[in-house]
Amino acid sequence: MNKLGFITEELDTLKETGLLIHIRTVEGPQGAWIAVDGKKVLNLCSNNYLGFANNPALKSASQRAVETYGVGPAAVRTIAGTITLHKQLEEKIAAFKGVESALSFQSGFCANLAVIPAIVSDGDVVFSDELNHASIIDGCRLSKARILRYEHGNPEDLQGKLSNEKNARRKLIITDGVFSMEGDIAPLPEIIEIADRFGAITMVDDAHGEGVLGRGGRGIVDHFQLHGKVDIEVGTMSKAFGVVGGYVAGSKKITDYLAQKGRPFLFSSAVTAADVAACIVAVDILSSSDGLVKQVWENTAFFQEKMREIGFNLGRTKTPITPVIIGDAKIARDFSQKLFEEGIFAQAIGYPTVPVGKARIRVMISATHTNNDLAWAAERFRDIGKSFHIL
Ligand SMILES: *Cc1c(COP(=O)(O)O)cnc(C)c1O
Repeated sequence: MNKLGFITEELDTLKETGLLIHIRTVEGPQGAWIAVDGKKVLNLCSNNYLGFANNPALKSASQRAVETYGVGPAAVRTIAGTITLHKQLEEKIAAFKGVESALSFQSGFCANLAVIPAIVSDGDVVFSDELNHASIIDGCRLSKARILRYEHGNPEDLQGKLSNEKNARRKLIITDGVFSMEGDIAPLPEIIEIADRFGAITMVDDAHGEGVLGRGGRGIVDHFQLHGKVDIEVGTMSKAFGVVGGYVAGSKKITDYLAQKGRPFLFSSAVTAADVAACIVAVDILSSSDGLVKQVWENTAFFQEKMREIGFNLGRTKTPITPVIIGDAKIARDFSQKLFEEGIFAQAIGYPTVPVGKARIRVMISATHTNNDLAWAAERFRDIGKSFHIL
C-alpha cells in the first residue's frame, strides 16, 4: 500500500495546472535590485515598501540588541518574562497607531490566530470579507464560531447577513485593510457604521496598510480618520516595517485579555531582541518623517500610470500593490519566467491565493525603486505582453 501516494498525485496536479510554486533563492539583502539564483534582478516582489529590510539604522539597532540581550528569548513571555524591548515596542506601536495599547506577537499570522479564537467561539458568528487573508480564515476556523463570508468590499451584503443573525451571542466583523492580492481598500467607514447598528465587534487587519496609508503610514484607521472606532487592529512588522513580528492594537482591555487568552502568545516564544530592536527603530523613523511614505506613493502613481497607458488591466488597486491581471495560471507563470530572464523578479500568483482564472503578476512598488527602474520595468512588461498577445 502506498500510504503517501496522494502527495505525488497532488504535486503532479499542481505541476500540470501551472500552480506549483517555485521558490527562488535570494543571495543577499533586500533592496530595489537583488541577487536571485545567481542573477541581478529588479525586485518587484517584496513587501519591503519603505526599504526598511536593509536600513542601516535598523541593522545597527539589531546588532546592539544582540550584544545587550543575546540571541534567544529562552521561553514564552508568560513564563520566562518579557524583555524591556518588547514593552518599548508595544508602547511605540500604540502611540503610532493612536490607540491605548498594543501587544506584540511572533507574526501577523500568529496575531490573527491569537485574537479571533479569543474573541469568538461556539454560538458566535464571524462576518468575514471573502477575500480576507489566509491567517484570518484560519483564525476563524480555529475559533469554532460560525463563519459567514460576505461579498468582497460590499457593505450591503454585510448588512444583509448581519440582519439575519440577530440572535447570535457575539458578532465579529473582520476585514483586511488593504487586500493583499487586489490592492483595494476596505470600505471601513461603512463597515463601522453597520457594526454600530448591529452591536458587532470590529476588527481590521492592517498588514498592507501600515507604512502606506494614513498620515506618515499610520494605517487605514488614520486614512479614514476613524480613531477609536475600530475595536481590534492587527498588524505585521514584516511588510512596510521591514522586520518580522505581529501585533494587536486597541484598548488596554483587549491586550490585557489577549495576554491571558491568546494561545500563540501563551505557547510560542516571542521574536528575538534583535528583531524587536529593529522594529522599534522602524516605528521611530515613521513617527518622525513621512518622506519614505510619500516616495512609495509617487513611485506607485508613476508605474501604474505607465502600465495603464500600455493597456494592462490593474484591477481595482488603490495602493502600491499592483496586480497585472493575466487570467490563465500557466500563462502568468510563463510571463513571470520571461520577466525573470529579462532581469525582473515579479511573481505569478494563482489559485488558491486568487480565484481560478484570475492569475496575475503581482508587482509591489517600493520607495527604493527609481523612476528609471520602473520605466524600464514597464517597457519589459509591454514587450512581453505583446509577445504573449495579452495587450
Ligand atoms: C502578510 C499578511 C499577514 C501575515 O503577516 P506575517 O507577519 O508575515 O505573518 C496577515 N494578514 C494580512 C492581511 C497579510 O497581508
